[in-house]
Amino acid sequence: MKRIPCSGCSLLCDDIIVRSDGLFVDEVIGACLKGKERFDQINAKNRILTPLIRENGELKKISFEGAINQASKILNNSKKAILYGFSNVTCEAQLKGIELAKLVNGFIDSNSTICQGKVLNAAKNTGITLTTITEIINKADLLIIWGANAAESIPRLLNKVLFSRGKFRMTGREIRTLIIIDPVKTASFGVMGVRDVALRIEPNKDLDLIRALKEECCSADSIPEKGVAGLDKDDMKRILLNLTGTENGVIIIGQGLLKPQSNAKIIEELLELVQMINLKQEKGRISVLMVGGHYNMAGFEHIALSTCGKNHSLQFSNNKLLETQDTIISKIENNDFDSSLIVGTDPISHLPYQLSKNLASKPIILIDNKRSATSEIADIIIPSAISGIECGGLAFRLDHVPIELKKIINPPSNILTDEEIIKKIIKKLT
Ligand code: SF4
Repeated sequence: MKRIPCSGCSLLCDDIIVRSDGLFVDEVIGACLKGKERFDQINAKNRILTPLIRENGELKKISFEGAINQASKILNNSKKAILYGFSNVTCEAQLKGIELAKLVNGFIDSNSTICQGKVLNAAKNTGITLTTITEIINKADLLIIWGANAAESIPRLLNKVLFSRGKFRMTGREIRTLIIIDPVKTASFGVMGVRDVALRIEPNKDLDLIRALKEECCSADSIPEKGVAGLDKDDMKRILLNLTGTENGVIIIGQGLLKPQSNAKIIEELLELVQMINLKQEKGRISVLMVGGHYNMAGFEHIALSTCGKNHSLQFSNNKLLETQDTIISKIENNDFDSSLIVGTDPISHLPYQLSKNLASKPIILIDNKRSATSEIADIIIPSAISGIECGGLAFRLDHVPIELKKIINPPSNILTDEEIIKKIIKKLT
């Protein structure tokens, strides 16, 4: 029996027990369904086990060496390669990805550019008060989940932050107030108790609510009679009372606030509200936690920041980082690329139709361990080991705490890790 971290999502639960003889994983204890799915991927039907190349529209088997050669050839001949994904791989692979982007004068971006990277961008202007899972367990008395379906996207998050008893609190769930702000009644509403506050805000009215709270901050006297953003006066009073009276409050920011169609000012103004309350508070403070989906989305931000001084969207030319406002979305939208290397993600499923169409119009190299919509149209597919099971490495949890992933078994069919594959491509280039 071994205790290992789970790489099923960005919570990286480090209390999973596995029974393994080093060849097979016999039992997994403590993981949620999503975590179990990660382990099931070892023998899943959609697992990619051999490298493939597209010839005359058909995918054909090719040797690992052949696939690496072809991938390097495409990248070598590219003038505007884009590299994307890197949120489901270890920090070691992310580091190699950035090195490769430099070598081919390419553009590299991670999934965080359309997710939690937006929060860190906004924080450049406003500052940010972050917290950790341990601090929430030990101290939090108020949790506000805003635009996130935590119960389904990060299945064990609420177990940990809502129901656990902390070191500095005599009680756990009993003293924690939960506020959920969402236009949709998600599964997370199911854990609400009598003291909790469910706020079904009108769609796309988050900015109105934040602005009203900023105006009313610390005073409930002048709330409009008709309420704000579909919330009535009593709801507004409740949220204000909780925000200004908490000792240790946490706002958990979800994809509902970060989605592309959201007003860019939302996050900036939310962070301003937090700073405003914290300045006025005599005791206590509010902090922020971002919930990214992929297990190492936060890792890319750390690696990019520490090596290049920018957390995502890195454009290189002559081994130097260029100033750019581009993101992976604008690059694909404007057809400003001539080939792509996709690592551990499925943009064809996630991006809008027109962007997927643009991406599909140029050669795609895919490094991944499972079949997806992207593998259906990729030109070269190189299978990779499942990190956190078939290889170890570093990852950053959603609260930016580093966690060391462990290797439990060898990957099948001599499959390489993401890091090893990118290293081999680099070697062929130089
Ligand atoms: S919550 Fe995430 S990290 Fe924890 S067991 Fe489930 S999938 Fe794994």
